[in-house]
Amino acid sequence: LLEEAGFNFYNSYRKLPSFFYSNVDNADPIRPQLRILNEDLAKVLELDIQYLKKQEIISILSGNYKETSLTPIAQAYAGHQFGNFTMLGDGRAMLLGEHVTHNNERYDIQLKGSGKTTFSRGGDGKATLGSMLREYIISEAIHALHIPTTRSLAVVTTGEEVRREVEMEGAVLTRIASSHIRVGTFQYARSFGGIQELQVLADYTIERHYPTLLKEPDRYLQLLKQVVKKQAQTIAKWQLVGFIHGVMNTDNMTISGETIDYGPCAFMDEYNPKTVFSSIDHTGRYAYGNQPNMGGWNVARFAETLLPLIDENEEQALELAQKAISEFPDHFHEEWLGGMRKKLGLQTEEDEDATLIRELLELMHEYQADYTNTFVALTMDDRTSMVLFQIEAFQQWYKKWQERMTRQQLRVDAVKEMMKQHNPAIIPRNHHVEDAITAAVSHHDDKPLRDLLAVITKPFAHTTDQKEYASLPPKALRPQHTYCGT
Ligand code: AMP
Ligand code: MG
Ligand code: MG
Repeated sequence: LLEEAGFNFYNSYRKLPSFFYSNVDNADPIRPQLRILNEDLAKVLELDIQYLKKQEIISILSGNYKETSLTPIAQAYAGHQFGNFTMLGDGRAMLLGEHVTHNNERYDIQLKGSGKTTFSRGGDGKATLGSMLREYIISEAIHALHIPTTRSLAVVTTGEEVRREVEMEGAVLTRIASSHIRVGTFQYARSFGGIQELQVLADYTIERHYPTLLKEPDRYLQLLKQVVKKQAQTIAKWQLVGFIHGVMNTDNMTISGETIDYGPCAFMDEYNPKTVFSSIDHTGRYAYGNQPNMGGWNVARFAETLLPLIDENEEQALELAQKAISEFPDHFHEEWLGGMRKKLGLQTEEDEDATLIRELLELMHEYQADYTNTFVALTMDDRTSMVLFQIEAFQQWYKKWQERMTRQQLRVDAVKEMMKQHNPAIIPRNHHVEDAITAAVSHHDDKPLRDLLAVITKPFAHTTDQKEYASLPPKALRPQHTYCGT
């Protein structure tokens, strides 16, 4: 049946030493029911939508694999959580297998919330419907914003209660990723394995994600450089849309550069670099403005794991690794500045552009302007909708920007088009996300969820019927923080 649904499983991770994973027990929830299916993603994966809706497949997507030939695993990893190193691993996830498409693209099919594993520690291995819908919404929004990310194929409810502060409906998310190899996977190999395990993991990772490096004599250093670049670019893209990840622990940093683990993440409304949504981030370690620093910190941890592979000579290895991670800020800045130029309709490059951008951000900060809507108003040249635009200092900035644009030969409509393509009209605003989840979870009404998904998956459409989703919450109702990964 899996084959008829289009699945083509081939599990390469299982060929690694058993040190890297453990087997997972079959899950057999009471009443698995499909709650939402991502038909667009199913097409990308070459899966048959009608088959995916069959009860046998839904049951498998809840973790009940016993009628299949699948041999799911939980992956081992460690990580720095808020700076503290600890052993972790898939405590509530199973890698069902790797699905390979006709183009030879390989995707991890992972079930999140399917029950206990050998890595569960004190946890129950379960997930709530609300938090899995949240991951579904935000990950699909991030994808639509052209940012590398894991994706969400389906949410299946289990028919079981999950005990949190109160009883909640349990659910399993089918998560799709180009792999789930993390900085934390390398930290696990380095801390708990030998050089042998480390090298096996590094070679496997290179083959899977950076195959052009396979024959390079310095391929481990090259791997580091690639990851430094990928992570810097992904985080720059977060900054450009005002996304705050919330838990940038090293176990939540992929080697592919895909955004992973949607827990206390959220999008910033008014521009403020100090913005934090996570209720457990007391020090602002993962605040919006600190994300680039933390990305640099995380790739430094990755570099440390690779040292013995980079060079036999310790000093030499350290020097090479340090040079590689020092490139993080440059890659970040290049991606960020390039993206910001496009947001402001600038096709040419001038040295003063960075200043022009910084001045705009400072004004937005000072006058508590909404980040997304400011760029949309600039795109649409709508100078009446925002308080910021009435401010004298802003008007001076605006004049400067207009003058800057006269120094490039680009027609007004071309500028507008560029800006429309780089300034999303719609981000998943917290209050809309919460409303949609509440309706789905508390009232079994999925219409708000579907309506929200329809607009957030077309963020650059700039159509008038989307307008209500661009609205801000009343100030008093602004959520201070979102949930931790429940
Ligand atoms: P996170 O902060 O979401 O990256 O999760 C950190 C670690 O906690 C990972 O090893 C997860 O697998 C584990 N974890 C999170 N929730 C649960 C749960 N309900 N049961 C068992 N392990 C969990
Ligand atoms: Mg995680
Ligand atoms: Mg999580």
